[in-house]
Amino acid sequence: ASSRASSPLAKIPAAKRVNVLEEYAKRSTDKPKMNLVVIGHVDAGKSTLMGHFLFDLGNVNQRMMQKYERDSQKIGKGSFAYAWVLDETGEERDRGITMDIAMNYFETPHRQFTLLDAPGHRDFIPNMISGTSQADAAVLVVDAATGGFESGFDANGQTKEHALLARSLGVQQLVIAVNKLDVMGWDQGRFDEIVGKLGVFLLQAGYRKNNLTYVPVSGLTGENLVKRSETEALTSWYRGPCLLEVIDAIEPPVRLLDKPFRMGVSDFFKGGIGSGGGVSLAGSIDSGSVQVGEQVMVIPGNEIGVVKALQVNDETTNWGAAGDSVLMTLAGLDILNLSTGCVLCTPLHPVPITTTFTAQIVVFDVRIPITSGFPVILHHQSSNEPASIVKLLCALDKSTGEIIKRNPRHLSKGATAKVKIQLSHRAIPLETFKDNKQLGRIMLRKGGETVAAGVVDEILTFGA
Ligand code: GDP
Repeated sequence: ASSRASSPLAKIPAAKRVNVLEEYAKRSTDKPKMNLVVIGHVDAGKSTLMGHFLFDLGNVNQRMMQKYERDSQKIGKGSFAYAWVLDETGEERDRGITMDIAMNYFETPHRQFTLLDAPGHRDFIPNMISGTSQADAAVLVVDAATGGFESGFDANGQTKEHALLARSLGVQQLVIAVNKLDVMGWDQGRFDEIVGKLGVFLLQAGYRKNNLTYVPVSGLTGENLVKRSETEALTSWYRGPCLLEVIDAIEPPVRLLDKPFRMGVSDFFKGGIGSGGGVSLAGSIDSGSVQVGEQVMVIPGNEIGVVKALQVNDETTNWGAAGDSVLMTLAGLDILNLSTGCVLCTPLHPVPITTTFTAQIVVFDVRIPITSGFPVILHHQSSNEPASIVKLLCALDKSTGEIIKRNPRHLSKGATAKVKIQLSHRAIPLETFKDNKQLGRIMLRKGGETVAAGVVDEILTFGA
C-alpha cells in the first residue's frame, strides 16, 4: 500500500484527462440507460410475457422464433416458444423454468433497458437478489387466471416476497402486468379485484401510489404488450397505455456521479481486454467515475492497480461513470488480490470495511420470529458471509418510519426494524445506503430462505 498517498490522477497528464462531467452531460442527451428486473410467482408467465414483448419489439429474429416454435411443439409444449427467447440453455428448456438471470437488452422510444429476467422458482431467490440489487425498476407479473393470482399471493406464493424484496432493495417503481386476462375473457371485475388486493399490500410494503402502474395484458396472445389492444372486451373498459408505453415512461434513476468511485466486481480473469497482460474485471459502476490511467484500490486488501483499458457496453472508451457496465484491465495487480464480492474504489476515498453495522430491515415470512443472536447468511453484492443479528434496536412503522417500540424482544413476519448486525468471520466492504445505493443494500437468509432484506444505516466498526 505504498502508493496509497499519491493522487489517482497523478498518472494522467493534464492534457489527456477526461472531464467526465462534461462528457457525461453530452452522452446524457442519449436515451437514459436503465436496468429492469422481472419478478413474480412461478408460472405467472414472466418468460412468455417478456419473450413475446421482445419479439414484438423486433428484438428476436423471425427464423429464431420459428425454430423456438418447432422445438417447443416437438416436446408438446407449444406455448413455451416465447419463453425460450429468454431461456437459453437446454437444461432450462427441459425443466421449463428460467434458471439463471438471462441478460437481454432492448430499447423503447425514450429509454434503453438491460433486462434482468428473475426466475420465479423458490430455490433461485439468491439469483434474483443479485439481479434485483442492480435494478432501477421492476415489472411484477401476476397471473389473473382463476386461482392463479391467489396461489401467487397467498402464504407460500412469491408475489409478495418478490415485491417486498425489490422494495427493500431500493426499487421504487413497479409496473404490474396483470397477465393471462385472455383466460378471463378480459373481465374488468377480475382486473379490479387484483388491483385492489395488490394495491393494499404494495402500499403497506412501502411503495408510493404514484410509482405503481397496472396494465392488463396477455403474454400469450400479445394483447396490450407493444401496442394498445383493439379487443372490445378490453377496450370497453380500459383506455390506458400498453406495457411498452408504461415501460417507456419509467423515471430514469439519479446517477451518483459526484460521489467517490465505487464498482462492485462481479467477475475477473487473467489477461487483458483483447490481448496483453494484466487482470480484467467486470462489474457495474455504482458511483463516481473512472478513467484510463487512474489508480484504483481493491477492497478488501487495499492493493492498487492502474486502469490500462476500459470497455463500456462492449465499446472501447477511456472513461466510465455511475450506471455503466464495464470491463476493465488493470496493470500492477496480482489476480490473487481479487475475490468475489470485492469492490474497486478510488484510493482517495476507500470503501470502509466493517464487521459491525446497523441496518433497517423488512422481515419476510419467517416461521420463527427473529430474536437477538439470530444467525444468518448476509448477502451483499455478489458475496455471502455468515453473520448474526446481535441486537434488535427498534421496531418501526412501515409507512411513517417512526419508532413503535424500542428494544423489541422479537421481530415477526412483516415487521420493519432497525437492527445491529455482526459478521462472524471477516470484515466486508460496506457503505450506508445514503452514501451508496448499491453497496448499502443487504439481504439476510437462513436455511435457504430469505429472512429479511434492507439497507445499511450506520457503520459501527471501521476495519477488520
Ligand atoms: P414463468 O414461470 O413466470 O416464467 O411462466 P411461463 O412464461 O413459463 O408461463 C407459465 C405458463 O403460463 C405457460 O404454460 C404459458 O404458456 C402460460 N401463459 C403465460 N402467459 C399467458 C397468458 O397471457 N395467457 C395464457 N392463457 N397463458 C399464459
